[in-house]
Amino acid sequence: MVHIDILSLFPEMFQGPFGIGILKRAIDRKLVSISIHNIRDYTHDKHATVDDYPYGGGAGMILKPEPIFEAVESIKSDICRKQGVSDIDCYTLPIILLTPQGRLYSQHIAAELSTHRQMTLICGHYEGVDERVPEYLASDEISIGDYVLSGGELAAMVVVDAVVRLLPGVLGSQASLLEDSHVTGLLEYPQYTRPAVHRERSVPEVLLSGNHAQIAKWRREQAILRTLKRRPELLDKANLCSEERQLVERLSTSPGKSAGDKWSGQQLMEENS
Ligand code: SAH
Repeated sequence: MVHIDILSLFPEMFQGPFGIGILKRAIDRKLVSISIHNIRDYTHDKHATVDDYPYGGGAGMILKPEPIFEAVESIKSDICRKQGVSDIDCYTLPIILLTPQGRLYSQHIAAELSTHRQMTLICGHYEGVDERVPEYLASDEISIGDYVLSGGELAAMVVVDAVVRLLPGVLGSQASLLEDSHVTGLLEYPQYTRPAVHRERSVPEVLLSGNHAQIAKWRREQAILRTLKRRPELLDKANLCSEERQLVERLSTSPGKSAGDKWSGQQLMEENS
């Protein structure tokens, strides 16, 4: 079982997202356990002060280092006690600060985190956290995107959700993971379900053909075409065979056909046949 500790000023925010759907099922089936710790519980003054004014002046409040250090130390010593060891390094226990200044979260990072048996996430708030937290306590800093949230809680939920669905046994079918957008380096092909005709719009015929080789070929092409059109920069790192590379080259350099804009799936199939 994977164990995740989360430090937050607002533990109640996690109840909804962790209490339904795939995450709840993963928790119920003991594939993951998640403990939310209130940073306020690690203060010692009578007002339970977690923040203070920034040195040097400026707007907003900064989370104080002491309660965050104490909370992480208490989590660490619990883990050490349970595992019968005297200390624990950041490979065994990544300590991740959620911050807009961190490395940009991706499927690749989610996969990397999903190999750890435990991790601790720290959610900032207000104007952020005292710099000694990222400098001397956290082993990693993660941002979920180039925008500023009011707190790290939503970011922690995003990180946890993407990690948990990768854990063995969490999704009904492991196969679905292999084709997900960003897993293959491509965006996923378009998906359809019943009815075959909705408001006079039909599902692509190939999907109804029962010809699995044709379906696989169509999906692969659609995934490439869609990635070229929406996120061409992803193709640089995608795993394409030389024919597929040539096709992409052709489509992206054809005069008047910028980044696959004017190409339909049908044209792509004709091009490729
Ligand atoms: N003044 C800070 C931002 C503070 S936002 C700065 O400019 O860097 C308050 C908190 O929200 C942060 O401490 C962080 O925990 C969280 N947060 C905000 N945006 C985030 C993002 N894009 N990814 C992850 N966490 C974020």
